[in-house]
Amino acid sequence: MEIKNDNSLNAPVTDISGVGKVRAAALAKLGIEKVNDLLLHYPRAYEHRGDVKLLENCIYGEKQATLLTVGTEPKVARIKRGMNLLKFRAYDESGVAEITFFNQDYLKSFFELGATYRFFGKVEKKGKKFELSSPAAERYDEQHPEKLPPFVSVYPLCEGLSQKAVTGYVQEALRRASIGQEDPIPSEYLVKNKLPTLAFAQKNIHFPADYRSLAAAKRRLIYGEFFDFALSLLSKKKTERRRGAPACEKGDAHELAALLPYDLTGAQKRVVEEIQRDMKTDVPMQRIIVGDVGSGKTVCAMAAMLFAVRSGRRAALMAPTEILANQHYDDVSELFGKLGINVALLTGSTPQSRKKKIYQAISGESDERIDVVIGTHALISDAVRFENLGIVITDEQHRFGINQRDALTKKGEHVHNLVMSATPIPRTLALTLYGDLDVSILDEMPPGRQKVDTFAVDESYRARLDKFIEKQVSEGGQVYIVCPAVEDSPEKENEVGEVGLFDIDIFTGEVIERPAKTPLKAAVTYCDELRAKMPELRIEFVHGKLKAAEKDRIMCDFAAGEIDILVSTTVIEVGVNVPNASLMIVENAERFGLSQLHQLRGRVGRGARKSYCILVSGEPDGEQKEASAHRLNIMKTTYSGFDIAERDLEMRGPGDFIASASTGFRQSGGLRFRLADMCSDASLMQAAFADAREWCEKMDAGD
Ligand code: ADP
Ligand code: MG
Repeated sequence: MEIKNDNSLNAPVTDISGVGKVRAAALAKLGIEKVNDLLLHYPRAYEHRGDVKLLENCIYGEKQATLLTVGTEPKVARIKRGMNLLKFRAYDESGVAEITFFNQDYLKSFFELGATYRFFGKVEKKGKKFELSSPAAERYDEQHPEKLPPFVSVYPLCEGLSQKAVTGYVQEALRRASIGQEDPIPSEYLVKNKLPTLAFAQKNIHFPADYRSLAAAKRRLIYGEFFDFALSLLSKKKTERRRGAPACEKGDAHELAALLPYDLTGAQKRVVEEIQRDMKTDVPMQRIIVGDVGSGKTVCAMAAMLFAVRSGRRAALMAPTEILANQHYDDVSELFGKLGINVALLTGSTPQSRKKKIYQAISGESDERIDVVIGTHALISDAVRFENLGIVITDEQHRFGINQRDALTKKGEHVHNLVMSATPIPRTLALTLYGDLDVSILDEMPPGRQKVDTFAVDESYRARLDKFIEKQVSEGGQVYIVCPAVEDSPEKENEVGEVGLFDIDIFTGEVIERPAKTPLKAAVTYCDELRAKMPELRIEFVHGKLKAAEKDRIMCDFAAGEIDILVSTTVIEVGVNVPNASLMIVENAERFGLSQLHQLRGRVGRGARKSYCILVSGEPDGEQKEASAHRLNIMKTTYSGFDIAERDLEMRGPGDFIASASTGFRQSGGLRFRLADMCSDASLMQAAFADAREWCEKMDAGD
């Protein structure tokens, strides 16, 4: 027999027998194009069918496994046109169950009188009789009971694919992977971190032998994702630090400071110095400013632009939304106007004729002088060409995709690069996650900021809450209400009995109870409810599914005071400044990370108005409630974004930070975390990064 080489993992999925054009198209929808992609198509849950129970020991109403022998000939009964029932009885030593399948008469020949099957489904008890309706069933072989695996994986699917089909394809991919596949992680690191091999991990993530093996597999794969990510950051750093950037040696921050009505904070001064030190060299700056909302990042950006302009270069600043670009433009042009620096605004709504003039000016094709351009994605349109670009700045970096940000950098060769992020990240984690960047941390707030009074309440406060909203509005304030969902979604298929992929402690292998799901408040529905309750108030909603122009319009109306209550999803996280907003209500607050809550709270308390943040939790009673109360209590007592981030890291692990740090430009080379986002332990991540760094150094030394 011909042995296929391991290249066959790189073959298109159509290489697998049974996969034709149609199936391949369905798989492509799941992002699976090559055989290898199947290995990365991890189950979303596992059914624990290995835990077989006697009928009388089952917990009724929950999905469970039983081993039953068919006791009566399966019969099909027609109920009415297009509907039939397949029925038979099956038994174990503790009782008899009536088994029914709805419209699955083709199964009749699958069940053989006297043969035994492993059933998996909800067991009900009616009187003395047990009932199972449309359970999953597998033939049991007494000679080879091991043929039935203890776990059955549940894969994410799309139309045209069945669990059975996908399971089969994954099995084929695993078979190919088992031949001569090399483990990309050096074995010394596997040993050091007590991790299994890639082959073991791949096999057990798809078809776990037991909980412990599954846990070990997950740990290995998460480590691998971090290791790869770290290597890609390190190589990116190496290639991007080639010389050739315009050294911006001129410019003095005092020129700017003299115009400000306040003194720079110590942190701002430090960051500005760090920026200037970078920009004076011809190695392109790759720097990120991480600072709490309101910590004053904009001034630091202005200083950077000033250095570029005074050194005879242009500067570009990109913001994720039109309204933010407008705000920046107003602030920057006012100050820079006094310094004789010309600022232009370029967004989607800039009139075509003006756009053309800007294009000409910044490419040096006209006499109009524009030193600084502030804008949105419009800045990266093909028509934009810069002459003499010195620095590119991106605000709220996590709102941009990698391509967008890179596109702006490519507008100039080897320009200096500055990124600003309002997600405070624990220092140790920042140095890791932003491995290819230099990190400037703005950890000092300008003096005199008001503390936003924070309360955590539950449903029983609803009536009082409504009164409070009305009171705020009647006093001239404005209200944000943030909901976790956009629209009410119908209950998902009951998944009780499955073990979710991420519900197993990856270190101990213990199963973690999946928290009960509480209904989520949805922005659209809640907005309607409020309108009915408070007909005299002006209430609007925004969420990510609205068109950008529509979102911007509503945000502008809110900023202009023409809307009293803005119901939204987290889209308002972005740093829009509405100083008149005095109340932030977060619904289902237990669903949000502390850092995210902090971010939301930062939307209010920006003006003179006394401001409040109310966290409404919809958590049911029990242990869950205690944990959630503890979390919300931290919000009541902690006001520094960095401190909150540390607590978040302790309690939820680095997942949230990875997500926010990596959705933007971090994800180079098409790398996507599949499991690591869910990682609950920062030490695994830090080990992977440290190992990757060491490995790189060894490789470099060996070159
Ligand atoms: P962010 O870091 O969220 O982007 P901004 O740069 O928008 O924050 O600054 C928030 C507000 O604080 C602005 O109104 C700005 O003028 C003001 N500000 C910035 N630095 C200082 C400071 N050192 N002292 C007082 N106010 C400051
Ligand atoms: Mg800002």
